[in-house]
Amino acid sequence: MIDLKKLEVWFITGSQHLYGPETLAKVAEHSQEITEYFDGSDKIPVKVVYKPVVKTPEEIYETIAAANQDKNCIGIITWMHTFSPSKMWIRGLNILQKPMLHLHSQFNRDIPWDSIDMDFMNLNQSAHGDREFGFMVSRMRKNRKVVVGFWQDEKVINDIDIWCRVAAGWNDWQGAKFVRFGDNMRYVAVTDGDKVEAELKFGFSVNTHAVGDLVAVIDSIGESQINVLIKGYEQAYHLADSLKEDGQNRKSLFEAAKIELGIKKFLEDGGYKGFTDTFEDLHGMVQLPGIAAQRLMEQGYGFAGEGDWKTAALVRACKVMGAGLKGGNAFMEDYTYHFDPEDQMVLGSHMLEIDSSLADGKANCEIHPLGIGGKADPVRLVFNVAGGNAVNASLIDMGNRFRLLLNEVKAVEPKNDLPKLPVARVLWKPLPDMKTALAAWIYAGGAHHTVYSQNLTTDYFRDFAKIADIELVIINGKTSLDTFEKELQWSEIYYR
Ligand code: MN
Repeated sequence: MIDLKKLEVWFITGSQHLYGPETLAKVAEHSQEITEYFDGSDKIPVKVVYKPVVKTPEEIYETIAAANQDKNCIGIITWMHTFSPSKMWIRGLNILQKPMLHLHSQFNRDIPWDSIDMDFMNLNQSAHGDREFGFMVSRMRKNRKVVVGFWQDEKVINDIDIWCRVAAGWNDWQGAKFVRFGDNMRYVAVTDGDKVEAELKFGFSVNTHAVGDLVAVIDSIGESQINVLIKGYEQAYHLADSLKEDGQNRKSLFEAAKIELGIKKFLEDGGYKGFTDTFEDLHGMVQLPGIAAQRLMEQGYGFAGEGDWKTAALVRACKVMGAGLKGGNAFMEDYTYHFDPEDQMVLGSHMLEIDSSLADGKANCEIHPLGIGGKADPVRLVFNVAGGNAVNASLIDMGNRFRLLLNEVKAVEPKNDLPKLPVARVLWKPLPDMKTALAAWIYAGGAHHTVYSQNLTTDYFRDFAKIADIELVIINGKTSLDTFEKELQWSEIYYR
């Protein structure tokens, strides 16, 4: 359901008429060559589209207006091959509504020592031309990503790849709809927040539907469709004996499959990109959606439990950003701690709803009592998650602003079974260390719900926060509480 290939980034080169038609023809030729190189790169997941060189305020304005209007255009890359006087850019930049990457590169990698002359200098002016442009963007207080280096450099391609993926995630949020079945979990603060402000800031809407509306759709699902899905379960997972054909809980598996199909139909019919529910409001549902939520996340839908619409939306954005990359992006919760001084770590999980895209190998499909919610025992997928670098990201509403909080972590392979806690689980060591990371998270007001990402690094979230124009707070290997707390205080002033 996530296809980045149809999306476009426009490559816009700035110049002026001062240099004459011959030089401008060269500018266009070089720009096309760079565009083709980016477009042909396996690393860059979207189309990179060449736009005719802009030389006047009118051309700049028209090109940016067109970028704003174009449904497939998710952002623009700007580059000044020559000198493009930046007062020409004011009107265009004023109306720019899409993310911008400023490529500070030059066509030639090396100085051609023996042949360099004034003709060469008329054509190759990026070193100063890009500064003139950069001044205006800074003067206008516009967020953008600046990428520096020779355009064929692997690091440059990597930076562009990340930014394109982030722009795609941002684009996906614009006009996105998320459905909230029931309200927030009673009395919980951090999962709540200002949905009006979120729509203004982020472009997605969150609206409620009674669980009864969903139950009606679930009840409309036909038996044959359910049986097909159960066959799929049988092939994909190790089914617990009681869930197998003629097993005592086979009926529960039938119910779980029916719930999955019902939710999916509801999401498809309504054009929703994600949902949230709460175990406190499940009237008419036989069991809490376990395997349904897990599998729908794996298919690309955003989800978070307990009415947590912010995390559901962030899960979706991360899935778009990470589309096609190895590893998953999942709804997560800090479940419990292991404070053994020799081996400190966090056990991450949720009651049921851990995204099966994280599963290390074939998952078990099991049924167990839940203890809360007062419903029939829910079917869920149980699995371990592989070790490796990851991040936990949390989006919270600070009242006067949204804060995106990140912690870089290192997941470790589970050494122990959890025979009496049948949930999907991850073990990680937060950076820089447990004591610092957890204190920093608490000081920053981070939620207990996060997006756990195996394939997005801090660089993605840095670009994302910039495009969304929100606060970013990072906890990583360099964090010391001393400066971290000061950073929060400075930030408080910045956003006042
Ligand atoms: Mn929770």
